[in-house]
Amino acid sequence: MKNTDRIVQMYDKYIMNTYKRVPLCLEKAKGARVWDIDGKTYLAFFPGWAVSGIGHCHPKVVAAINRQSKKLLHVSNNYYSELQAKLAETIIRNSFPGKVFFGNSGAEANEAAIKLARLYGHKTGRLEVITCLKSFHGRTLAMITATGQDKVKKGFEPLPAGFIHVPFNDLEAIKEAVNEHTVAIMLEPVQCEGGINIARQEYMKNLRRICDEKDLILILDEVQTGMGRAGRMFAYQNYGIVPDIMTLAKSLGGGVPIGACVVRGKFQYILTPGTHASTFGGSPLVCAASLAVFEAIVKENLLQNANRMGRYLRVRLEGLKKKYHFIKEIRTMALIIGVELTVKGEDIYKECLKAGLLINCTQDTVLRIMPPLTVTKKEADRAIAILDKVFSGV
Ligand SMILES: *Cc1c(COP(=O)(O)O)cnc(C)c1O
Repeated sequence: MKNTDRIVQMYDKYIMNTYKRVPLCLEKAKGARVWDIDGKTYLAFFPGWAVSGIGHCHPKVVAAINRQSKKLLHVSNNYYSELQAKLAETIIRNSFPGKVFFGNSGAEANEAAIKLARLYGHKTGRLEVITCLKSFHGRTLAMITATGQDKVKKGFEPLPAGFIHVPFNDLEAIKEAVNEHTVAIMLEPVQCEGGINIARQEYMKNLRRICDEKDLILILDEVQTGMGRAGRMFAYQNYGIVPDIMTLAKSLGGGVPIGACVVRGKFQYILTPGTHASTFGGSPLVCAASLAVFEAIVKENLLQNANRMGRYLRVRLEGLKKKYHFIKEIRTMALIIGVELTVKGEDIYKECLKAGLLINCTQDTVLRIMPPLTVTKKEADRAIAILDKVFSGV
């Protein structure tokens, strides 16, 4: 029996069946390369759902974790630790003046943002949050409510009140939805789970203006788009606007669980002692890893590489589009890449897997391709060659 089959059997017996999995058991990884437990290698072009944003087991991250694991793993948040302070300072230096709350995941970062909005709303008598259809904000009860997709909510009612959904990139819909009860607007600059839908410049600028005019909190969920993937440290920086709250997770920790809620201006003073907390949030171990991620992005010029390789992959994919009529549209922001098909993408994704390329398919027809920021031209060429071969068999 293959090792993979043995592990799959154990999962069947002991792991709750909440995921659609493919029979691939990973054992080790480096950069864009992963090895399964039976020794086969793959090119990871969606490493860990965009968690390993600078590649798997980046040497700087591994070294930082090794170093810190010998000193101190966890500090409860009624004490101080230098690394939490340094990471917050680094996030703020790379974004906007404000303050950070640390949790452990994207959903938690978003929960902090919504709790803050609620607290602010209670002071001003406004409690509704507007979010977008096709969004994805996490799997807690409040976040499945915020998420604009029915499939994640079904069967979990009653859901928390106070969320309203509008179509993405539709300014008129926002204008109609905003009323005297609205306190915040939350959206992703690029809806990744939702099919790589990119917010338009004018849309984002107008949302900022509306929020300023009506004293609404503009919350940008950058859990998937942040940390260089969009060609700048954070995707909002492509829009010439600044959000009031930005949430981060996924690649923020370079592979370890961390979430951050970054808050600007007067909103940084809303949450006070006793209103919010996280036992594990901002521990020295994960902060050491995250500081190493920032260091790697800066010292290794990974933003430049993300832009360059994003452009290169786009050109190569446009080449494939000319060749294959079932490629409908290619949507990209640096290394956030969506290839929309006129056919279902599941078989393509599975054939890629067989051929040694790990990508993702979302919303049935959109191939989601998010190589690590460290991706080389050679790796990009290899991925394109595999895609070409798989497409030729469709
Ligand atoms: C993945 C994701 C989340 C949820 O993050 P978890 O760490 O799984 O809780 C929230 N928002 C966006 C945009 C995401 O991509």
